[in-house]
Amino acid sequence: MQSLWNDTEAATFGTDLLGQRVYTSRLLGRNPALVLHGGGNTSVKILEKDFFGEPVDLCYVKGSGWDLATIEREGFSPVRMSALMKMAELPTMSDADMVLQQRAAMTNPNAPAASIEAILHAILPFKFVDHSHANAISALTCSMDGGKRVVECFGKRVLVLPYVMPGFVLAKQVHEVLKKRDLRAENIEGIVLLKHGLFTFADDARTSYEKHIELVTMAEAWLQNRNKGVSPLSYDESRAGRPCYEDLLNLAKLRRAVSAKRGFAQIARLLDEPDQVAYATSIGTAGTLGPLTPDHSIRTKRSPAVIGDDIAASVQKFADDYVAYFKRNSGQAAHYTMLDPAPRFALWAGKGIVSFGDSLKDANIVADIATHTAATISQVGDAWSPLPEKDIFEIEYWELEQAKLCKGPSRKVHQGKVALVTGCAAGIGFAIAESLAEQGAQVVGLDIDKDIPEIMKKIGAIGIVVNLTEDQPVTDAISFAVREFGGIDIVVSNAGIFPKNDHLDVMAQTDWDRTIMINLTSHQKLMSKVIPFVKQGIDASIIFVGSRNFKAPGPGASAYSCSKAALTQLCRVAALELAPDKIRVNIVHPDAVFDTKLWTPDALQKSAARYGMTVEEYKTKNLMKVEIKSKDIGNMVSAMASPLFAKVTGAQIPVDGGNDRVI
Ligand SMILES: [Zn+2]
Repeated sequence: MQSLWNDTEAATFGTDLLGQRVYTSRLLGRNPALVLHGGGNTSVKILEKDFFGEPVDLCYVKGSGWDLATIEREGFSPVRMSALMKMAELPTMSDADMVLQQRAAMTNPNAPAASIEAILHAILPFKFVDHSHANAISALTCSMDGGKRVVECFGKRVLVLPYVMPGFVLAKQVHEVLKKRDLRAENIEGIVLLKHGLFTFADDARTSYEKHIELVTMAEAWLQNRNKGVSPLSYDESRAGRPCYEDLLNLAKLRRAVSAKRGFAQIARLLDEPDQVAYATSIGTAGTLGPLTPDHSIRTKRSPAVIGDDIAASVQKFADDYVAYFKRNSGQAAHYTMLDPAPRFALWAGKGIVSFGDSLKDANIVADIATHTAATISQVGDAWSPLPEKDIFEIEYWELEQAKLCKGPSRKVHQGKVALVTGCAAGIGFAIAESLAEQGAQVVGLDIDKDIPEIMKKIGAIGIVVNLTEDQPVTDAISFAVREFGGIDIVVSNAGIFPKNDHLDVMAQTDWDRTIMINLTSHQKLMSKVIPFVKQGIDASIIFVGSRNFKAPGPGASAYSCSKAALTQLCRVAALELAPDKIRVNIVHPDAVFDTKLWTPDALQKSAARYGMTVEEYKTKNLMKVEIKSKDIGNMVSAMASPLFAKVTGAQIPVDGGNDRVI
């Protein structure tokens, strides 16, 4: 591992102590093999003048909710050293009291809550303190003979402490040791907390950071040396390559089973790089014993699910085991409420690692942790011996940790759902994709427009260039959605064209054929390919975009009217066929939506003139005299895909302001 220190870059953070603290904290955060997603913490001790001009010794500690990789000055909480030192002297202290007293001792009450390791940072007699959960330290210490390995690796350069609960208990443990030992006099460069992580310290930012890198590098080298000649986990090459159709269907089944246990739709990501497949296939029991560092259990639970041939039974077994683990460890304490019994990641033999999350971001965080866990445990193999489950349980059900997870915003209506929308580069299709994304869905948008990837990026969605009349590209796009997100729950079959107005006697055959192909047959083809996955969807829903024109046709629009009429019939048949699977199929009939590319100001002007109306009158020529916008359709489709329409199928919903030819 290399030091990332750079003089020029360091100077941009300021030469004061806090500026340097921000810089080297970010350097730690930049390396995922040191800290992942909010893990680790750092501090600096600064003598300042308070508001009244009195000198005050402060310990600036990483505030909770901040990530080392992106931390700013205001991410550090200024806590009075005197209060922290007094707390260290107390024989016991509850977590709630510790959090309260830390906040009371802050000179800026608006700063974030100080890390739960603030007392420990304060008692270490150096200006700068760096703490990480480095993979190499976990690999070194999470084994039967972890303590012995640390001594072999570092000799007397570090202090080795057995695992105790982080927070006050850990601070107290170190405080007692420091009463007897002088870290400076003994030239101790770091503290290794078995099965937890590493602390380094110094009076300047660079030395404390570079000591950290040096010690982690020593651990890496020791492990590498020891693993010489150990054959890597076996990898069956016949399993290589993209997952097959059967695998994708099974992935969707797995996601559905896990979502049911979690109580909400989950995004699922299949990680199937060769080493990930090898790990999932061959690691065996070692892969289920516990996390790299107790912190991870908050996001990943203690262990992953192991998926066998019977997917539902495998998820059920995980849930049963989790309930048993909860009962074993919660004892009689009434204040524990069991968390959901769903796995956060799974080892799927022959297929890879699958991570789950409420959103793509959450699933990616779990994927990162799972990937680092796999790489680290692979190095240790059968000797892997993480913390016993009672210690993990204490962290998983620690009120302070639980609070971290509860801070997020409330769930959106389509959170965790995957939506496939066709024809969404502009107009109604785009508005639908946008509404679904705003409500939390992970949208995959298909369109023939080559700009669709960029257009979808604007709303946090994935765009794929697809000609919906071709078979293979549609199949590939569906496979992509399932592979990347675990399944498909919402399908909005929207793509369509409006050919030029010609009466039957002069209409070109090609116009008719093309309209039927795009407005009707491509929808039927999409259904044939997507329905097997939608059957594994969560609260699944299919919505077609029809047209008011179906019930109120006009001259010169035979191809369009017929295609929309047939599409409506396709929707009704699909509703009949899919009702037993609890999949609802509905159609929305928009009318006179003018805020689309089709309607230039000029075209609007001409059409209005044909009716002898102003543009304003023309735009609102419906019973309610209201203008219908793309977003109105987007919001309606989003509602139709939501639980509001849970018991509605085969329905035709007009969004047209009311029409006297139809009512
Ligand atoms: Zn820690």
